[in-house]
Amino acid sequence: MMMTADPKTAPAHGPIAEIDLSALCANYAMIRDAAPEARVSAAVKCNAYGLGLTPVASALFTREKCDEFFVAYPEEGAALRAALKDAGPRIYCFAGPSEETLALYERVQMTPVINSLTQAELWAKRGAGPAVVHIDTGMNRLGAPMSEAQAIAETMSGAGLEVSIVMSHLACAYDPAHPKNKDQREKFLEAAQRFPGAHLSLAASAGALMDKSYQFDLVRPGIALYGGSPFDADDKRISDVVTLKSPIVQLRELRPDETVGYGATFTASAPMRIATVSLGYGDGYPRNDAPAGAAIVNDALAPIVGRVSMDFITLDITSQKNPVKIGDYAEFFGPKLRLFDAAAATHRVPYDLLTGLGGRIDRRYL
Ligand SMILES: *Cc1c(COP(=O)(O)O)cnc(C)c1O
Repeated sequence: MMMTADPKTAPAHGPIAEIDLSALCANYAMIRDAAPEARVSAAVKCNAYGLGLTPVASALFTREKCDEFFVAYPEEGAALRAALKDAGPRIYCFAGPSEETLALYERVQMTPVINSLTQAELWAKRGAGPAVVHIDTGMNRLGAPMSEAQAIAETMSGAGLEVSIVMSHLACAYDPAHPKNKDQREKFLEAAQRFPGAHLSLAASAGALMDKSYQFDLVRPGIALYGGSPFDADDKRISDVVTLKSPIVQLRELRPDETVGYGATFTASAPMRIATVSLGYGDGYPRNDAPAGAAIVNDALAPIVGRVSMDFITLDITSQKNPVKIGDYAEFFGPKLRLFDAAAATHRVPYDLLTGLGGRIDRRYL
């Protein structure tokens, strides 16, 4: 078991995130089976969604032979290249090149995702190698407008540079029945005609698990690898990867009319038992004005009462049948409480719950 929390900040008896790398690999294999005709890459941006770039990418690379990775920033790509000991997987960077980052792209042997004609011209001038082209088909966030596709294609071929992949990104794939999916797919196919010979990539996790018609040549899953459903409902094909747990540090009995926490927002209506746990919004656990969320203590559900504070959460353990003692762990998500459900209960999604996990949490790899 290796521990990579910052020893300066990880408390000895504080929150722990256990990260099951076998489950990560099982999710990768599940997506490969669901998309048998596509290559399966891995989106490892944002420190592999908070799980830890090096252990996650190394596990996927060595155990599953995943050899295509997507990062958001060039610096993340440089860290990934170093983590994989400069071995040969392809690293694509969503940000695309700027004057400032061109040299880094070259040094790290990273493939840029070109998001505009300006970026295409910059890359072509450098003549530095193949690129991915991202066409915006309706997300209106990042990517080149459809109207620039032809000029980008000509710029690249004029410089003798290959467009290895043409990609786009779905805005509403969380709902497979959403009409925007089909609409974007059609626009994507239209734009792709400008790039003969390029491979096609439209699907992130949701598209990859939706149906074959969205998978094309390469899928780019992120959240499904890390144990979160990309849909607006849970997806049981996805295995739990992260268990977030922390010890109980105090127990107290409340009389009726006593209150709990900041703002005294919760008042006991009857005698209650409260367990205080070392976890808070400072660790990325969501704070809401009204109590939301729960943990599992000794295999029973313990609802959060009172406001989540920076370092502590208070749980109602009044109805627990088994004795609860200081040092027992409360599990906030993991095999006993699905990440999707924990996120929904706190008005979040698996994405922000995972990426929000703070630096104080001791990440342990199984
Ligand atoms: C983050 C991202 C992905 C991965 O998305 P998931 O929903 O986590 O699978 C794929 N493609 C692009 C363009 C992204 O920004």
